[in-house]
Amino acid sequence: MAIKRVGVLTSGGDASGMNAAVRAVVRTALDRGLEIFGIYEGFCGLIEGGDRIRPMTWNSVGGIIHRGGTIIGTSRSAEFATRRGRLCAARTLLAAGIDSLIVIGGDGSLTGADVFRQEWASLLAELVANGVVEPDVAARHPRLTVVGLVGSIDNDAFGTDMTIGADTALHRITEAIDAISSTASSHRRTFVVEVMGRHCGYLALMSAIATGADWVFTPESPPETDDWATEMITALNAGREAGRRDAMVIVAEGATDRRGHPITSEHLRKVLETGLTESVRVTVLGHVQRGGAPSAFDRNLGTLMGHAAMDTLLAGAADQESQVIGMRGNRVVRIPLAECVSKTREINALLEAQQYSRARELRGNSFNTALRTLQTLLRALPHPPQAGQRRLRLCILNVGAPAPGMNTAVRAAVRIAIDQGHTILGIRRGFQGLIDDDIQEMAWMSVNGWAPLGGSELGTNRVVPSGRDFYAIAKAIEKHRIEGLLIVGGWEGYQGAYRLFEERANFPAFEVPIVCLPATIDNNLPGTELSIGADTALNSIVTVVDKIKQSAVAERRCYVVEVMGWRCGYLALMSGLATGAERVYLHEEGVTLKSMKEDLDVLVRGFQNGKRLGLVIRNEKANPTCNTAFMCALFEEESGGAFDVRQSILGHLQQGGDPSPFDRIQATKLARRGGPADGAARVVDASPVPGRASPDHCGGPGDPHFKVPSRAGIRVEWAAPNSVLVAGRDCPVAGNSFGHRSRWRRGRPHAVVFVPLHRHPE
Ligand code: ATP
Ligand code: MG
Repeated sequence: MAIKRVGVLTSGGDASGMNAAVRAVVRTALDRGLEIFGIYEGFCGLIEGGDRIRPMTWNSVGGIIHRGGTIIGTSRSAEFATRRGRLCAARTLLAAGIDSLIVIGGDGSLTGADVFRQEWASLLAELVANGVVEPDVAARHPRLTVVGLVGSIDNDAFGTDMTIGADTALHRITEAIDAISSTASSHRRTFVVEVMGRHCGYLALMSAIATGADWVFTPESPPETDDWATEMITALNAGREAGRRDAMVIVAEGATDRRGHPITSEHLRKVLETGLTESVRVTVLGHVQRGGAPSAFDRNLGTLMGHAAMDTLLAGAADQESQVIGMRGNRVVRIPLAECVSKTREINALLEAQQYSRARELRGNSFNTALRTLQTLLRALPHPPQAGQRRLRLCILNVGAPAPGMNTAVRAAVRIAIDQGHTILGIRRGFQGLIDDDIQEMAWMSVNGWAPLGGSELGTNRVVPSGRDFYAIAKAIEKHRIEGLLIVGGWEGYQGAYRLFEERANFPAFEVPIVCLPATIDNNLPGTELSIGADTALNSIVTVVDKIKQSAVAERRCYVVEVMGWRCGYLALMSGLATGAERVYLHEEGVTLKSMKEDLDVLVRGFQNGKRLGLVIRNEKANPTCNTAFMCALFEEESGGAFDVRQSILGHLQQGGDPSPFDRIQATKLARRGGPADGAARVVDASPVPGRASPDHCGGPGDPHFKVPSRAGIRVEWAAPNSVLVAGRDCPVAGNSFGHRSRWRRGRPHAVVFVPLHRHPE
């Protein structure tokens, strides 16, 4: 039987981004011609029925995407955990004619929903036997279909890289720790910060990476020895001796020692005060971690998952077995609900049984990469090289426009290199610094406090070497005996690297490993799905557009917002999704008069039908003729007075700001992978076989920097084909397959669905 009526509910602890998911569920359902009901107050509403079950319209979920929490309410219901409670719930659903549920909540809520589905037939039989429900009503709903979305700030679910709300929580934690850090360093103080996570160290681990914390305790990775206190204090004292002004210890609320005894923040305070003989402050972050406006990532995660949940229902993929929508490697996936819940619980049980390494394994790849990265960084302290170790002279530079996270990457790379006994030279102002010989050795403390800093402390510019520059650069490389080049930057950095590679025949000095770390807000680089800086820019855009929308005191106004991205539509599309824009214009799709006319007609009709606010987001290079000013003028003139138009060109604020937690984590992971410790140093020892990879070798999201091809000894990590690189600026996204292959554009169909006016002119 075709699904006709679907219910959506949120349950358990609230999480930012749940509203985006509800909105996507409702609008996708309406788009597909279904009836959709909001079940208010979670499972409690299901039991109570009545006006807790309300039909949802396109407008019921308007203006909620930017709000934290859940507008349909949530609860914990002891009654639903009993069969009697679920009997009431079944009766409610039958009365409303609903036999499909989309449940957004944690493991408890998903389990509850699955139990309900399994019992459905027997619940109905009981209701019929008791005369509460007519047999033919029961017969019309032979099964209950359940699709779950994991909404949980802890990011503790098996089967998905991210849960709805975790990224926003990380934003709150990072903001708090950044603020605490400045007071801590003013007073030379030590702080213990306790973050949420009873069974899962995700928030503690990631916030420690993002803020450059000095020590961390998580449930999955307890200290390896019983005398962990001495180890910690030695490390913190060493940091102090190196010149650090503050010390930050992060502890997850569920952290334990290796015997399973809790390590609490209060216990840590005592231990640290004794060991460090200085006053130690404790901050327990508590519920602020749940609150606030959802990050761009959580809005888009909720949206993509909500959309996928409805598709899963419609495809019948959940008919036999409840499914959970997850995200793996930037792709939406579905997994059996039972597996998601049982594996999640298995991890908790393993932790209780102190089987930590198996528990870590189940946490998945990205968790473990982050853990290794952090362990490397915590261990990293200036110390003499080991006997017989080869010491390299490596250099690091930023190239291209500033991207938030560049400093984070440089900091991590410098410290890892020094920790491994290498010498690392900082080059100021990109390739110009190499040309002008503006090069200085970096010390441990040169990068102190860089993790949360926006901009580029090294200095960056867009110079791509050519002509006589090569001679100057070769001279600098020889003079400083540089044995490897790490470029953290955007398209100009990649071009520069490639030019050096091409000039190897003329300048043997260039026969050194060159590694590029993708850092640009435009997200237009080949070989990676996400570059450092793009997430921060997206959040900056979303924050500003939220404000612009609120400024609409005048009725019937349409904003045309122009965002950066050069010829890559990533920022425009993703910010359009995250802010609920009516229309996005991308360079990849172009702008035609015909499409603009259609959009205009739709807007006019919308405003005539009571619409108050319109939002159009366009990429800066969407079309050279039809630029933003022209588009605004045209819309205004052709609106026939139905609405007025304001343009907003966001400009350089998109390149500024402190890096988001995601960008800091990405930068740190990449610096570890592609940086001197892990990448160049190894490659320089290999036999020289110049060559380059094919586009098939482009790294995936977990491996976003250029990948070394399988043949050992290749010296330049270079993933894009020749033609792309010589064809000119930004052509990877402009004309060739890269832009079309790139996975972020999979968001496009969703954006189309959420262009509401064509089909839903309420
Ligand atoms: P979080 O733990 O992230 O805050 P959660 O969804 O896991 O969210 P819980 O309090 O564990 O939160 O569960 C929410 C509700 O789900 C419970 O109050 C209960 O109504 C229902 N539930 C949980 N477990 C079961 C179960 N085994 N059977 C039936 N219902 C359950
Ligand atoms: Mg739970």
